[in-house]
Amino acid sequence: MSDKLITSIYEITKNYCDPVSNIPLNKSNSNFSIICKDGHANISLNITQQDQEKYIDLSKNLKKALGSINDLLSVNIIFTSEKTADKESKEHYRFQISAKNIIAIASGKGGVGKSTFAVNFAVALKKIGHQVGILDADIYGPSVPRMMGISGRPQTNDNKKLVPLESYGIKCMSIGFLIGVDTPTIWRGPMVMKALEQMFNGVAWGKLDYLIIDLPPGTGDAQLTLAQSSKLSGSIIISTPQDVALIDARKGINMFKKVNVPVLGIVENMSYFICSKCNERHEIFSSGGAKKEAEKFETPFLGELPLDKNLRIYSDEGRPICVFDPESSIAATYLAIAKKVHGNLH
Ligand code: ADP
Repeated sequence: MSDKLITSIYEITKNYCDPVSNIPLNKSNSNFSIICKDGHANISLNITQQDQEKYIDLSKNLKKALGSINDLLSVNIIFTSEKTADKESKEHYRFQISAKNIIAIASGKGGVGKSTFAVNFAVALKKIGHQVGILDADIYGPSVPRMMGISGRPQTNDNKKLVPLESYGIKCMSIGFLIGVDTPTIWRGPMVMKALEQMFNGVAWGKLDYLIIDLPPGTGDAQLTLAQSSKLSGSIIISTPQDVALIDARKGINMFKKVNVPVLGIVENMSYFICSKCNERHEIFSSGGAKKEAEKFETPFLGELPLDKNLRIYSDEGRPICVFDPESSIAATYLAIAKKVHGNLH
């Protein structure tokens, strides 16, 4: 009887989403649970304490909708907060780096310009006076060595830690330095995690104001573990404007929200194209989608970057546009984003 009642309740709750994470209240939502006894139901949803007010409407709507179940005698909806437990667990991060700020650059899918952004954002932070490191965690397609114009093998120091290679004043560590960028990385989960751990704990990063992590695209195990196991200040989501990329970007935002990592903002890459002949703006992949998404998630929209031939050439030649064409409007946009993010964090 109770099982049947629980199934009927899920049939209704699955049509509702957590208003903060946007995750449906269904059986696979680990923050959501239903217990039934003698026709009475206790429904609980784990939330962040400061978001409490955002759940008032949900509670009312759920109670009303569940009223349609004949066998349900009463329903009690509880919002729990695991703030203390969460804080405690975060003090024991598996991946330890003593950077003042650690920012993960993420995208829902590959090829949207995540690494290009990570590299130029790192350079822009350096330009405004910070000590910066970049950790290329894109195990399956490390592109930081190419985009930063560096190759070679990192040396080990007396403490048996890898010494990051340096380019444009930025400390870089990439799985590409260790296995070669062209070697296909066909690794299983535990090996991937071991390699990532090595790149965090086994590297002599020294003093850093910012460590920028170029995450693998998507929302798989590696991304989730990194988000949970390192002391991230936040994440930045890169997306192109078209729907397919935005759907995946949304998954990324939800993943970070679920593990309580703040989303510092969304950047729209390849937003528009300025024709060098007619000087007109063309919105090849549509435009403004990421901005709308940012509004929907109440997340800062950090800026839009054009589809630009020079940016591609500079990136692929290992010459970040922020260094080699500092007067360009693209370099100015990267600088503005770096200042905005720094301002929002401090
Ligand atoms: P991801 O890390 O998302 O896979 P990359 O940063 O490696 O994507 O970019 C993929 C390709 O697109 C690279 O060749 C890069 O130079 C190019 N690219 C990235 N952003 C732009 C842009 N705004 N305009 C033109 N080319 C770009």
